[in-house]
Amino acid sequence: MSMSRISHVVVHYSWTRTDQRVDAATIDRWHRQRGFRMIGYHLYIRADGTVEQGRPLDMVGAGVGGQNSGKWHVCYEGGQIPGDTRNGHDTRTPEQIAALIRVIGELLDKQPHAKVVGHRDLAATQCPGFDVPAWWASVEKGETVDPKPGDPDALPRTPDVGEDAEHVVERGDTLWRIAAEHGVTVQNLMAWNGLKDGQTIHPGDVLRVGPSRDAGDALAALISDIRDMLDRVEADMPGDRNKVDLAAKSAHAHLSNQ
Ligand SMILES: [Zn+2]
Repeated sequence: MSMSRISHVVVHYSWTRTDQRVDAATIDRWHRQRGFRMIGYHLYIRADGTVEQGRPLDMVGAGVGGQNSGKWHVCYEGGQIPGDTRNGHDTRTPEQIAALIRVIGELLDKQPHAKVVGHRDLAATQCPGFDVPAWWASVEKGETVDPKPGDPDALPRTPDVGEDAEHVVERGDTLWRIAAEHGVTVQNLMAWNGLKDGQTIHPGDVLRVGPSRDAGDALAALISDIRDMLDRVEADMPGDRNKVDLAAKSAHAHLSNQ
C-alpha cells in the first residue's frame, strides 16, 4: 500500500493529569464519544515509555482542526499538572522523551522530509507544552538537553481541550447521512463548515461535526469590549470615579486571569 506524503509529525499531549493513568483505549473511547471514528492520534506514549498504537499510519489522523491530511500525530500521556487546569506543561518523563525520540526517528525513516512540530505550532493551543521544533533540532544535533517547559506567558491561554470533532467524508457519504451519524442537523453541519445549498462534498474532505471551540476567544473579546467600555465611562464620568475604577479593576483582573 502506498503511503501519501507526510509533511508533518505533530506532537501532542493528552491533556490529562500527571497523577492519572490514561491508556490509548481510553483516549479512543473519548474521541469516539466526540464523533471521531477512532482515536485521533497515530501513536500514543504512556508515562512509562510504552508506545501504544492508535490509528493506522495510512489513515488520516484527527489532531489539528481542519488540517489533518499529510500529518502523523504522536501524543504523550500527560500535559496537565494537578491543580492547574489552565496551563499546559511539559510533563514528559525521561522514558517518554526516550520513546518520543525513537518513535519520531522511525517515522522520519519512512518520511524523511516531514517536519517535526507541536500542535501549538499549527493552532492556538498550548499543546504539547514545549517547543517541539527547538527540542527536535537539539536532538538532531545530538545535544543532551533537559526539555525546557514552554513559557506559558508567550502562549495563547487556551489549554488543549482536545480537537474539534471531525468527519472524513467517505465515498457514498451524504450530508444527511453524516448528520445522522453524528446526531446533528444538516443545517448545523452546513453552518459549521460554511457550506452553501447545492455544494457537493467529496471523499477525503474533512468536515467539522460540532461547533468550533472558539468560545474562549469570544469570551476574551467580550471582556476586552467591556474593559474598553468601562474606560470610556471612566473618562466621561470623573465624578463617579471610584466606583467605575473598581469595576474596571475587576474586569482587568479577570482578563489577566484568563
Ligand atoms: Zn494537541
